[in-house]
Formats: sequence, C-alpha cells, structure tokens
Amino acid sequence: MSFLNKKYLVFDFDGTIDSLIIDWSNSRKEMMTSIKDIVGDQSLEDFRNSYYFQIEMIKEFGDEVSDKLIELSKNYEKENYSSHHPNMNAVDFIKNNQDKYKFFLWTSNHIETISPVLKELGLDQSFQVIVSRDSVKLPKPDAEGFLQIYIPGTDKKDYLMIGDTSNDVFAAENSDIDYLDINDFEREITK
Ligand SMILES: [Mg+2]
Repeated sequence: MSFLNKKYLVFDFDGTIDSLIIDWSNSRKEMMTSIKDIVGDQSLEDFRNSYYFQIEMIKEFGDEVSDKLIELSKNYEKENYSSHHPNMNAVDFIKNNQDKYKFFLWTSNHIETISPVLKELGLDQSFQVIVSRDSVKLPKPDAEGFLQIYIPGTDKKDYLMIGDTSNDVFAAENSDIDYLDINDFEREITK
C-alpha cells in the first residue's frame, strides 16, 4: 500500500504523529469503576479490545455511559500525562505537503490532551478535521469518526488511514478505506 496516489490522509495521533507519555496502568480499572453503576459487572475479556467494550456499552446503555467515558478520558489523560515525543518525520511531512494532500486527524485521545501538543508542533492548522474522543459518541474503530472526515461525493479509494495499532486497522476496515502502518509510511518518506 502506497500513499502516493491518495488524496486524503487520515492520521492517528498517539504512536503515529507523536508519542504521549501517559501512565495507562489504571485506565481499565478506572473505566470499569466509572460506569459500573450503569452497566453492572462486565468482563473486558468478552470484547476484542477496550474500545470495542466502550462501543458496546454505549450502544446498549446510551448517552449516560458515553458522557462518563468522555469525561473520564479527559481527566485520566490530564492526570497521567507526563511528556511527549514527536515523530518528526511525520510532523514535517504533514507540514510540508499541505498543498499535495488533505490531512485529517482521527484520535481516541481527548482534544484537551492533544491541542497543546499540536500547537507546540505547529500542526494546529494542518488538519481539515480533527476527530477526537470527545467529538464522537462511539470511539475508533467505530466508523462514526470517519463520517466527520469523509467528504461527500469523493471516492473512498482516495483515502488512507495511517496508524500504529490494530485498532487503527479495524477503524480503516470499518470505514472501508485502505490502511498503512506508520513504520511503512516512514520508510517510504525517508528513502
Ligand atoms: Mg496510536
């Protein structure tokens, strides 16, 4: 898969454009605690990953769970963030190719977590749309986020998702667009 013939590049954030140093060790426990009074006893093991768990809980129990999970993502990331390491190959590519591609950001992080980082990297004006955890009810890999990105009338073949985890692969699959791993992308842009 090459990005060269694509028009719309949809980037994941964490681990792709920039690595956020966040201590995730308590996140699952805090997530379960925050919605336990609504969803009861649930086992994460019954789901493909924690994002599929969130999606199923929101579909089943609605806005109350959605609001709690978004609030939790904001607070958890704020309390457990320590620093970040940019991927300068990706950052520079996005900055230097604004006239060649349209860029989109599709992240599961909260906008308050990524906004200061985007500003610091000079990327705050580089994306046509930023889809963050708080701008959707159903997080990635549900295709809800892609609906905010997709330009009506365009061909889905012209879109490419670039990310670093299986959840990004699922997101591309669910959105019916191609996928490229950030490592393969970097190999192409640095050769
Ligand atoms: Mg990632």
